[in-house]
Amino acid sequence: MARYTGAVCRLCRREQTKLFLKGEKCYTKCILDSRPTPPGMAKPQRGKPSEYQIRLREKQKLKRMMMMTETPLVKAMADASRSPGNSAAVLLRTLETRLDNIVRRLGLATSVNTARQLVSHGHVRVNGKTVDIPSFSVPVGAEVALDPKMKDNVGVKLALEFADKKTNRPAFLVFDAEKLSGKLVREPGREESSFPVNDRLIVEYYSR
Ligand code: SF4
Repeated sequence: MARYTGAVCRLCRREQTKLFLKGEKCYTKCILDSRPTPPGMAKPQRGKPSEYQIRLREKQKLKRMMMMTETPLVKAMADASRSPGNSAAVLLRTLETRLDNIVRRLGLATSVNTARQLVSHGHVRVNGKTVDIPSFSVPVGAEVALDPKMKDNVGVKLALEFADKKTNRPAFLVFDAEKLSGKLVREPGREESSFPVNDRLIVEYYSR
């Protein structure tokens, strides 16, 4: 599976916004505060961006927030377009309920990359069965749990402390700190999405 292995802060600088790819550091030591220019540029970009550029950047922002490559995002968009209802809302809901994102939002990992690692290394169970596919779509009612062996893992402990401090677990997930598990009790609403993007522009980008 192709994946980005460069410096993640570079992606935030390119998008000129915080994408929160480094967990706690993003709140305490963010490079964007001291170097707000795009990579390779000493000054901010001049001139008005074209309509195409505006849509492209919005799509890139979403892709980078989830640390995805283009192919799965195109597939998610195609599936969303075929589904009944608003394509933009369906797309964001699909990304929100991916297993790696659910693990992150439960506070078991501080970033989507570490959440994905937990999943692909077989440390996550859905309804009691190990699932090692980060893009697995978690259905409503399913219970996502961390392998009890991971309870003493330093990274998991730090992530849990951080999540408790931030108290930012969404209402569509019910977390059980004892069992290190969480239940998806309903579909996430648009206002609960962890992706602050203009979804309309993304749909327009893909409908060119
Ligand atoms: Fe982005 Fe976090 Fe790096 Fe800041 S610290 S630039 S939010 S990845």
